[in-house]
Amino acid sequence: MSNDYDDVRHNLITMLEELDERLTTITQEVRHTDEVVEKDSEEQATQNENNEVQDYLGNFARVEIAAIKQAIVRIDRGDYDICQTCGEVINPERLKILPYLAQCIKCASLAEKI
Ligand SMILES: [Zn+2]
Repeated sequence: MSNDYDDVRHNLITMLEELDERLTTITQEVRHTDEVVEKDSEEQATQNENNEVQDYLGNFARVEIAAIKQAIVRIDRGDYDICQTCGEVINPERLKILPYLAQCIKCASLAEKI
């Protein structure tokens, strides 16, 4: 069973490494811009917007990293393709597109509506 998803696991780890790198870059950029204090209000506004975008990207990367880590745990545990909400099998076509999905399409669309 555990060998079935070796390729997926490998891909997930690669994704994780790339995201970690991206997150480090984002964090460094935020830190760098924080050091620059002198600017007029218009520049400050642009700066705040940039920080917001970076915050968003940072949060998004963190959410993705958490989801990927959980997917790897599920592979090791042997319930990788099982919906974590209802226990049904997740459509493998969807897992090919988003390998760290934790829910079947029914539960995912329900969650979106909330
Ligand atoms: Zn489900």
